[in-house]
Amino acid sequence: MTAAQSVVQHPTHGRFEPNRVLIHYGEIALKGRNRSRFEKALRHNLRHRLRAAGLRPEIHQGHQRIWVDLDGLAASDCDEVMQAASETPGIVTYQPVHFLPATGHSDRQALLEQARMLLADLANRVDHPGKGTFAVRVKRADKRFPLPSDQIAARIGQSIIEHSPWERVDLKHPDQTFHLDIYLDGMYCYGTRYRGLGGLPVGPGGRGLALLSGGIDSPVAAFVMAKRGCRVDFLHFTASPAQQRKDADHAVIQLARQLSRYTGHSRLFMVPYDHFDMALHGDQRGHEVILFRRFVARTGEALAKRLKALALITGDSLGQVASQTMENMVSTSLAVRIPIMRPLVGLDKADIVDIARRIGTYEMSIQPYKDCCALLDHRPRTRTLPYNLENIEQQLGLTDPALLQATLDDAVCLQFAAGRDLET
Ligand code: ATP
Ligand code: MG
Repeated sequence: MTAAQSVVQHPTHGRFEPNRVLIHYGEIALKGRNRSRFEKALRHNLRHRLRAAGLRPEIHQGHQRIWVDLDGLAASDCDEVMQAASETPGIVTYQPVHFLPATGHSDRQALLEQARMLLADLANRVDHPGKGTFAVRVKRADKRFPLPSDQIAARIGQSIIEHSPWERVDLKHPDQTFHLDIYLDGMYCYGTRYRGLGGLPVGPGGRGLALLSGGIDSPVAAFVMAKRGCRVDFLHFTASPAQQRKDADHAVIQLARQLSRYTGHSRLFMVPYDHFDMALHGDQRGHEVILFRRFVARTGEALAKRLKALALITGDSLGQVASQTMENMVSTSLAVRIPIMRPLVGLDKADIVDIARRIGTYEMSIQPYKDCCALLDHRPRTRTLPYNLENIEQQLGLTDPALLQATLDDAVCLQFAAGRDLET
């Protein structure tokens, strides 16, 4: 840390400085006896995410909440913690808070006074839009606290009106809410509560291998699965993997790096499609694309076995393009024994684009890039029968294990964690 960076000082009398980032998770709490496993995964993922950013703050577990201790961190590190919380699956809300610890003998009334001053100070710093309204919400987990919540809220509200530009109260639809949560161990003061990704922590949901193109859909599919707790690695077919690995700005490398913000840690396997292309020789009357899909699935199955991944993940959406008819999806699925998960199958393109924009992959996906251009030039058949395809594959030798082996032998592997490249 440089001397120029300000260090958060605690406690600061009357001055609101966040000393914790408080994190709530919704669904994990419903998991009965599995709960502690999910909570552990969430803390572990957050810790790794922060370590990748060079931070090692303490992470604590409370009752249905966890918090990151900001003590001793620079103010800019607090932003990093917030960023990490916003990108970690399983987190429903997160907020920077000023925590006032209750020591055994501390006078609760004095603590409340302190909280009142802190919230008035916070109100002074929060942007105040012209005619903005506010509300104060008080939650008492400590029911022995001598004053009722609404009386406490009214007193804090009065202080905010006296000491900040906020003067209009609207308890139903306020523009800004100021919170005081009273627990046995102390009081939490905070303003805005931010919405996290939701979902479940990555890890307990098993491992999947996402077939990643440079397009819009497959990165979203990988994200959606990670958000439900799946560990995700990537497989990408491209013209020249060895060449591509040298280009850190390549679209697919950018995508894998960006996705690792959510997946935590992911490997990107880039394999060449020329072994397949050579075996294909000549015109296959519109079957090229589906033959390729089946070959990708078989390669994915072989790699998944090595990685102990239980399923493949694709960005298929029913009817979106000619190759994504139900017949063709079934034809692809029947080429392998491993299940193919298609989390976007029922989504409209506009909804997929919305997610891609939110997770920061959209701009990367629309860069000009053709992964397997020679094949995509053909007009694909919309109806294919697995039986016909099997015959063609037999004739061309596309199911030959040596072909899969040659493809995987040329694989190049890159690793990413928390949005950064790992040395490989
Ligand atoms: P995307 O936007 O993900 O590219 P798409 O609408 O272009 O999808 P297709 O090109 O038909 O759809 O591909 C269907 C799925 O096959 C993709 O979502 C992806 O999972 C997989 N796929 C396509 N091309 C590749 C590739 N070069 N390497 C690995 N997987 C691929
Ligand atoms: Mg595509």
